[in-house]
Amino acid sequence: MKKALKLSAVALSMTAAFSANAATTIFKNVDIFNGTEEKLYEDHHVMVVDNKIAQISSKEIKAEGDAVVIDGEGKTLMPGLIDGHAHVMINYNFGDIEHNKDITDISINSITVAERFLDDGFTTVRDMGGPAFGLMREIEAGNVKGPRIYPSGGFISQTSGHGDFRDRADAGFSTAQQGDISNFERMGIGNVADGVPEVLRATRLNLRNGASQIKIMAGGGGSSRFDPIDTTQYSVEETCAIVEAAKDWNTYVAAHTFNDRSVNRLLDCGVKTFEHGFFINDDTMKRISKEGGYVVPQMWGLSPDLAKNPLMPKEKLPMVAVLQEKYGDYGQRLLENDVKVVFASDYVGANSDAERARRYEIWWRTQAFGSNFEVLKQMTSTAGEMLAMSGPRGTAKGKLGVIEKDAIADILLVDGNPLEDMSIIGATDKWFDADPEYKKIDTIKLVMKDGKIYRNEM
Ligand SMILES: [Zn+2]
Repeated sequence: MKKALKLSAVALSMTAAFSANAATTIFKNVDIFNGTEEKLYEDHHVMVVDNKIAQISSKEIKAEGDAVVIDGEGKTLMPGLIDGHAHVMINYNFGDIEHNKDITDISINSITVAERFLDDGFTTVRDMGGPAFGLMREIEAGNVKGPRIYPSGGFISQTSGHGDFRDRADAGFSTAQQGDISNFERMGIGNVADGVPEVLRATRLNLRNGASQIKIMAGGGGSSRFDPIDTTQYSVEETCAIVEAAKDWNTYVAAHTFNDRSVNRLLDCGVKTFEHGFFINDDTMKRISKEGGYVVPQMWGLSPDLAKNPLMPKEKLPMVAVLQEKYGDYGQRLLENDVKVVFASDYVGANSDAERARRYEIWWRTQAFGSNFEVLKQMTSTAGEMLAMSGPRGTAKGKLGVIEKDAIADILLVDGNPLEDMSIIGATDKWFDADPEYKKIDTIKLVMKDGKIYRNEM
C-alpha cells in the first residue's frame, strides 16, 4: 500500500513537471527490448510525455489527467527502426529517372515510399542522396505521413564519378562542352562538382538547404556507367575541403566507397561514415574502428539472390558469384574487427522493389552477421549513435534508437520477440520472388514517432 502511494506520488510529480497540456501515453504490460541489451525487460510500463520517454518502470505507472493508456498485453515494446542509407526520392530505376521523369513524378511517388517506411516500423531514415528537403518539411509539418528524414541533399560527385549520370554525348570531349547537366542534377538528386571551389559550393548549397550530413561519391559503383568500381574518386584536397565545410556547419561527411585506397584517404580527411565498403581489408577495418567511424553496407549486394534480379544483365551474372565468393564473409570480418555497423536498405527502383529489398535485407543481414541482436542494434541504437553526429543539424532534437528515459519517443509494439524471430519486423528470405503488392507487416501492431501514434492495431 505504502509502495503504491509512493509510486503515484512519483507519477504525479513527473506529470506536474510537464505542461498541463502535455500529451501523455502510457504503455502497460510490455516486454521491453531497449536497443542496447540482448534481453527483454518483462512486464514493464512506459510513459511518454510529449515527444519523449518520461518514465520506464517495472511497476504500474499512473498519470494525472487524460493520459492515453494502451494495454500492451505482453507484446514487445522496442525502438522505432532506423534505415541508415536509403534514397526516398529515387523511386524508379535509374534509366527511367534519367530519361522519362521530372520532379513531379518522383515527388508524388516519394509520398508512398515515406508512408510505407513508417508503416513498416521505420521512424527515421537517413537519406543518402536526392532532393528530400521538401518531403522532410512536409512530414515534419504533418502533411505527409512518413519517417523523420535526415537529408543529405544531392550527392556530390566528380566529373566521371558515381554521381555523373550524363549521357555519353552530354559530357563531350572538351571541358568547354560540359555545360549540359543530367536529369539527376536538374532534379537535385546529384551534383557534379570538380576542384575545391566547386565542391565547396556544392557542399554549402546542401547545408544551406538543410542537409543534416553531406554525401560524397568517393569511388566507382554498380549503377553508374562511366566509373569502374575499382576507382578512387575525389582528390585529397577536394575531400578535405568538403569535410572542413561540413565541420564548420557542425556536422559530418558520409562517403560512397569500396576500396582501401579510398577509405584511407577519407579517414585522413575526417570522413565519418563509409557506405558499402565491401572490398576493404582487416587493417582498414581496424582503422575505421579506432577512429570512431561507421560502416553502412547494403548486404544484399553480396547476396547470391541478387542474381535473380530480372533487370540484371546476363553478362553481370558471373560477377555476382565472384563477389559472393570473395567477400561473403564481409559481415563477420566487420564484427571481428570491432567495426560499428548500421543498417542500410539502399535500394532504388519502383516502390515495391525498394520495400521488397528492405524486408529481404533484414533477413539476409541475420545470415551475414549471424545474430538477430547484432542486426537489431544496427537498426536501432548504433544507427541512433551515428545520427547523433549531425549535432545541431539533426532533424531530431534528442536521442534516437533506444528505449530509455529522455530519449525521443519512437516506439513500436510488436507481436513476438525480435531477438528470436526477425520476421515479426518484416524479415523474409523472399526478394524478387516476393509478392510485389504492398502488404503491412501484421505483427507490427503500433508505430509511434515523436510521441505521436501513426499506426495502431492494438
Ligand atoms: Zn546509395
